[in-house]
Amino acid sequence: MKGTEERHGVALTNLDQPLFADAGATKRDLVDYLDAVADRILPELRDRPLSVMRVLRGQKPFMQKNLPKYTPEWVPRVALWAESSQREVSYALCNDHATLLWFANQRAVEYHPTLITVGDDGPRPTHLVLDIDPPEGESFPAAARSAHLVRQALADAGLGCAVKTSGAKGVHVVVPVDGRTPIEDAAAATRALAARAERLDPELATTAYIREDRGGRVFLDSTRAGGASLVAAYSPRLRPGVPVSFPVPWDELDHVTPADFTLRTALDRLGGSNPWAASLPPPQSIPADVVEEGHTI
Ligand code: ATP
Ligand code: MN
Ligand code: MN
Repeated sequence: MKGTEERHGVALTNLDQPLFADAGATKRDLVDYLDAVADRILPELRDRPLSVMRVLRGQKPFMQKNLPKYTPEWVPRVALWAESSQREVSYALCNDHATLLWFANQRAVEYHPTLITVGDDGPRPTHLVLDIDPPEGESFPAAARSAHLVRQALADAGLGCAVKTSGAKGVHVVVPVDGRTPIEDAAAATRALAARAERLDPELATTAYIREDRGGRVFLDSTRAGGASLVAAYSPRLRPGVPVSFPVPWDELDHVTPADFTLRTALDRLGGSNPWAASLPPPQSIPADVVEEGHTI
């Protein structure tokens, strides 16, 4: 049948349909992109409970955490207790190419892994994330300037980091941390580092949780920690033109916009490379004074 094929043993259907209104891309474009980038996005997803943003024809997009009943039994999964909904949620672990293509065929456009991995030794944080959200008006340049502040605050604490566009409005600064970091300490350190960055230029950036208190400034969101998710590097976003979350070298951050990186352009930019893996420093231990400072905030 036209628009139907099989890859990695996964039946793919309706490939010639538009992905969503304004996508400027078909479902085939999504499948082809994820197929090509699989070796680079799968390491971002491995062993991390996954949420996906799906868009079905004629429906509003929705975030899917719990796997649907019709999910094939070969899709890896983990059951976790969800405090917010007070029930057990069966999360996918997108650990292989076939599972990624199955999700693509399900019209899963966005891939949101947790910042923890689940393994034999229980959940453990692998990254700190400073989520940098520009104010209304989508002022990406201000987010980029704030990312430089965050980088400086991290450097002052002896920590290295990498930056990527979210693919939506802002950027994510990511700090790999070693396995000795308890979740509470990771959360505290993230708060402390956001506060330190704010102090470097309080007119540009703020850690105010309440939107009305931000006064047009960039929000340094330090709440991405523990079981929280973050859109994966290389994940497409459900936005016009299908931008993707993409790594950016620090010296180019002031010269790009999120729309530079899309389902159409990302593969050409990448060639065979994996700039996200290349730009991340090795896992680091968080200085004790940063953790202590964070526990007082
Ligand atoms: P932007 O650049 O527009 O801020 P973003 O992806 O950083 O895009 P945020 O709203 O800042 O979006 O959220 C940060 C991360 O938190 C997201 O990437 C996503 O993984 C997670 N998240 C946010 N809102 C939700 C939600 N309603 N359900 C599940 N996960 C969410
Ligand atoms: Mn954000
Ligand atoms: Mn945010």
